[in-house]
Amino acid sequence: MALMSRPLLLLSRSDLVKNLVSTMPVSAGIVRSYVPGETTDAVVEATARLVDEGIRVTLDFLGEDTLDAEQAEATVAAYLEVLEALSARGLTRMAEVSVKLSAIGQALPDDVAGGGHKIALENARTICRAARNAGTTVTLDMEDHTTTDSTLAILRELRKDFPETGAVLQAYLHRTEADCRALAYEGSRVRLCKGAYNEPEEVAFQSDLDVDRSYVRCLKVLLAGQGYPMIATHDPRLVEIASTLASRYGRDQGSYEFQMLFGIRPDEQRRLVKAGERVRVYIPYGQEWYGYLMRRLAERPQNLSFFLKSLISKK
Ligand SMILES: Cc1cc2nc3c(=O)[nH]c(=O)nc-3n(C[C@H](O)[C@H](O)[C@H](O)COP(=O)(O)OP(=O)(O)OC[C@H]3O[C@@H](n4cnc5c(N)ncnc54)[C@H](O)[C@@H]3O)c2cc1C
Repeated sequence: MALMSRPLLLLSRSDLVKNLVSTMPVSAGIVRSYVPGETTDAVVEATARLVDEGIRVTLDFLGEDTLDAEQAEATVAAYLEVLEALSARGLTRMAEVSVKLSAIGQALPDDVAGGGHKIALENARTICRAARNAGTTVTLDMEDHTTTDSTLAILRELRKDFPETGAVLQAYLHRTEADCRALAYEGSRVRLCKGAYNEPEEVAFQSDLDVDRSYVRCLKVLLAGQGYPMIATHDPRLVEIASTLASRYGRDQGSYEFQMLFGIRPDEQRRLVKAGERVRVYIPYGQEWYGYLMRRLAERPQNLSFFLKSLISKK
């Protein structure tokens, strides 16, 4: 679809390219510009630097589509470790975590310990409890459309005990305006993004224009509602429209927030903070950065030549 750069996504599936890129140390410029580190220490440092600038953070331990229960447990352990480290540094007022349910067991087959849905729910509960004890929150990332119902069902279950748990909705899906209506209730934290997966036309808008229009319709529902909208986009037009709509609906600054990815439009992140807006940066970290990096590079055609040059020079 138009949101993706197909050549780069196809290239990213080549084992040769994967081996070449994966042998680059994470400190290589192109990787570090999107992923500040592989370890808990590195990401806590990156968090502290942003917090010093008045920017909030949500941390994502990279790794998705786990088909291995032990790997899912290792991911849960990584979240518990980072939550403890954030708490020890006094950062949990400004930093939360984002979790992909497929990284904590959602994709496991039904014959494993009650099935992926149940395992992911229990693992997410463990992370939510640790986040609550550390004084912060969890947001459930949204993945491809085949997981949307399961993810929203897990969200509903989690919110019974942890109503602060954040949801993510993707404007490219036809269903999302209705999902926004269902989730625009008091206390409900909802991140609205365009959507990052390659979805078929039966379920998703295919043109940039249609996705943007859907994003604006969803924004109106969320900003007019009682919840806490988290406006996740780097798109300058949508940021401007969101600001205008926020004042039209009588929203005070701080009753919603802007979110951007680490390394993308950092000047805009600072400009918004200076303008009094609440801004949160999503920081991915860990060793499994390859797929994430490829999705980010694929989002911008200009990145292809930048990427190839850095592959050749290995910088
Ligand atoms: C905080 C946050 C959380 C997210 N969580 C999810 C999630 O849970 N599920 C999901 O499916 N998707 C998620 N996404 C990704 C999102 O769906 C989009 O794929 C991504 O944000 C690009 O869309 P955009 O709104 O920035 O608009 P685009 O139209 O892609 O970009 C608008 C402008 O932003 C700049 N820009 C965008 N991408 C790049 C880049 N890679 N490098 C440099 N500049 C760039 C360019 O100036 C571009 O013109 C998240 C995004 C953010 C910001």
